[in-house]
Amino acid sequence: MGPGDGGTYDPGMEQTWSAEVVEHHRLRNDLAVVRLVGDVVPFRPGQYVDVAVPQQPQLLRRLSPALPPSRDGKLEFHVRAVPGGSVSRRIVEDTSVGDVWEIHQPRGTMTIDPDGPDVVLVAGGTGLAPFRAMLLDLARQDNPPKVFLFIGGQFPRDLYAADMLYLLLGHLPWLTVVPVVESLTDPEPRDPWFDQLGVDVGFGDADLVEGNLADVVTSYGAFIEQQVLVCGSAAMVRATTTALRGTGTPAENIQHDPY
Ligand SMILES: Cc1cc2nc3c(=O)[nH]c(=O)nc-3n(C[C@H](O)[C@H](O)[C@H](O)COP(=O)(O)OP(=O)(O)OC[C@H]3O[C@@H](n4cnc5c(N)ncnc54)[C@H](O)[C@@H]3O)c2cc1C
Repeated sequence: MGPGDGGTYDPGMEQTWSAEVVEHHRLRNDLAVVRLVGDVVPFRPGQYVDVAVPQQPQLLRRLSPALPPSRDGKLEFHVRAVPGGSVSRRIVEDTSVGDVWEIHQPRGTMTIDPDGPDVVLVAGGTGLAPFRAMLLDLARQDNPPKVFLFIGGQFPRDLYAADMLYLLLGHLPWLTVVPVVESLTDPEPRDPWFDQLGVDVGFGDADLVEGNLADVVTSYGAFIEQQVLVCGSAAMVRATTTALRGTGTPAENIQHDPY
């Protein structure tokens, strides 16, 4: 098993980069945004990197930068703690400013052709992270294609970046965001991390589409011309790509990265 397999770290000759945590922003009980500054990592927006964190330095985990590459070495990651996970829960709960992360070789082939046809992005949970990097990169282009971003969660509070996307909509006239939740009501118990944020911008109840993400996306018909990118858990990617193909979107139009 080697770096990139998401398993035990076997140090080799591969180049690594390091970056220091400058902000750990706990947005939900199970989710944090981690911002770092360090070496300039040569990735393309939409790629992922293997990361070693000080809590579990021998266990590499794949994370997708949520910012495009920056010349001053800024990095941002969105991390959701998975139940029983060895590393993700530690990142969400125990990350401190000053921690140094080791970043390994960027990988992944998801890409948007900025001169190509309209784009459909389908994100489940932190599958939004690479799309956020891609959107900010497209915003640097003169004449980007239209982008339709579907973001999915089980409950409204799962849409952890809804406020950021809502603000982005005001600046990017080529962007449409469709927030999809399986239930319009957040469950009990409440999430104290969410409550203490006191978020006052974002999508209203009327903006939220209730339903299954794959069903909602495919209700728009087949994406014959569009560039379609899907990112999220393995189950979400499988369900979405199957539904897309089943409703007539050509397989060659679809790119995906399962978590
Ligand atoms: C290409 C790629 C990009 C990724 N980018 C991100 C990212 O930007 N942000 C992010 O938070 N995560 C991302 N992931 C997922 C991440 O790499 C880890 O797999 C995840 O954080 C779990 O690691 P862990 O050590 O906590 O769990 P592990 O100790 O590896 O697994 C513990 C248990 O959790 C289950 N499990 C593992 N992953 C998941 C999951 N995603 N959903 C539900 N159960 C799971 C396992 O089956 C196992 O039972 C990405 C994965 C891939 C493949």
